Amino acid sequence: MSRYLSEKLDGAGRITLSEEQLGRMGLGPGDEILLRETANGLVLLPLDPPLRKVYVEPTTRCNLQCPMCMRQSWDEPLADLSWEAYERLIAGLQEMGTCRRMSF
Ligand code: SF4
Repeated sequence: MSRYLSEKLDGAGRITLSEEQLGRMGLGPGDEILLRETANGLVLLPLDPPLRKVYVEPTTRCNLQCPMCMRQSWDEPLADLSWEAYERLIAGLQEMGTCRRMSF
């Protein structure tokens, strides 16, 4: 363990990070992280990362046939996300309160 980190440990083996440091890792106060030693050094990983980003696929319809696409290996019928399901998703994300980004 690096000297910097060992100096930051409290008696219970916890490290307190500034809000700026937490923000850079997408974490907030009270979030726990896992410290893993790798061949390239120490890596900090969120222990139970809050949901920060959601990818929504509003439809599986596509007029292309990319060879690497997962659509090449599935037999599911093409479908669209219903408006009701979308509204439930939005309501659930609002209730969770952690999601910062949604990509379509
Ligand atoms: S990867 Fe699949 S879904 Fe994306 S453009 Fe290609 S065929 Fe369409």
